[in-house]
Amino acid sequence: PAAADEVPAEVRERHTFLCQELDDHSYRYYMGNPVISDAEYDTLMRELVGIEERHPVLVTQDSPTQKVGAPISVDFAAVEHLERLQSLDNAFAPDELDAWVHRVESEAPVDAYLCELKIDGLAVDLVYEKGRLVRAATRGDGRVGEDITLNIRTIEAVPVHLDDSVRPAPELLEVRGEVFLPGEAFEALNARLADDGKPPFANPRNAAAGSLRQKDPRVTATRPLSMLVHGVGAHRGVEFTHQSHVYDLLRDWGLPVSDRYRVVPDIAKVREYIEYYAEHRHDPAYEIDGVVVKVDDVAVQRRLGSTSRAPRWAIAYKYPPEEVTTKLVDIRVNV
Ligand code: NAD
Repeated sequence: PAAADEVPAEVRERHTFLCQELDDHSYRYYMGNPVISDAEYDTLMRELVGIEERHPVLVTQDSPTQKVGAPISVDFAAVEHLERLQSLDNAFAPDELDAWVHRVESEAPVDAYLCELKIDGLAVDLVYEKGRLVRAATRGDGRVGEDITLNIRTIEAVPVHLDDSVRPAPELLEVRGEVFLPGEAFEALNARLADDGKPPFANPRNAAAGSLRQKDPRVTATRPLSMLVHGVGAHRGVEFTHQSHVYDLLRDWGLPVSDRYRVVPDIAKVREYIEYYAEHRHDPAYEIDGVVVKVDDVAVQRRLGSTSRAPRWAIAYKYPPEEVTTKLVDIRVNV
């Protein structure tokens, strides 16, 4: 294998620069104060990925390409997740999606993909023991998150007890999902903040994060947050065969599952789903920044496994940024 000093100095310098730059932006973003757009961040990240693909010797565990998200605030207790929470790899164009499908299907037989919306919210982890919600945490760095149990309990969509009328609750269930503030509630909250002479939130994602991560849960309770779940972590007393099976069970237990996901047989249908929601991006009450495509069969998911940062059995197809609205929001916030 090549040594790091065989990489041209200017490439090494650019690599170091990009790592620092991305770490800084990530910190600001998760502190609720981003200074560049997500698209700009993604462009820098793609440049870094390109350099590391050409020069694998530069990949370290500490590279932004290898880690998940956010610093932990001192305002909350740190909690270790039962199973790691990951991020998602991205595709920004049809050929990148095709490359992912090709890679997946060359490693394992796939007879169905599950397509769903990529909610632009805040990732959280809920732990149910014998059907009772015992803990909720932010994703944090994927291994350790912030304890937000009292705040989550103010969200109406999140059951404190699983519904066991259809089937008994499992002994243990770790559920992953996205907390968000619906568009209208976001506008109303910003109007209220403006009336009170307080600074508005830049976008619904920031508003959701800011509202959930309040030291005083009574403040969170005044914000009409909602949630949708999209995965499970550790579990005991239940087995899942397919991602769609996971959703059937979660729904039966009273957890909020989106009804916009579809199970499709092939890449052509995946593309149709992506094209449909590119045209209907504003149909949901929440913001989306793309579509997530998952291999439906859990046995195949296991066979494909994950990298340190993301599963190999899923990909986020990201839509291009919406220039007009982004700029309007930027202007309002900067004034
Ligand atoms: P990500 O936003 O690309 O996607 C991963 C996350 O998507 C998952 O952790 C999950 O919580 C969420 N998700 C939403 N819907 C889902 C669904 N249906 N199924 C599965 N997961 C779903 O990655 P990330 O690691 O959360 O954040 C990185 C992104 O954040 C960047 O690509 C960039 O857009 C943005 N960012 C921006 C800045 C900035 O300065 N503007 C800085 C850092 C990060």
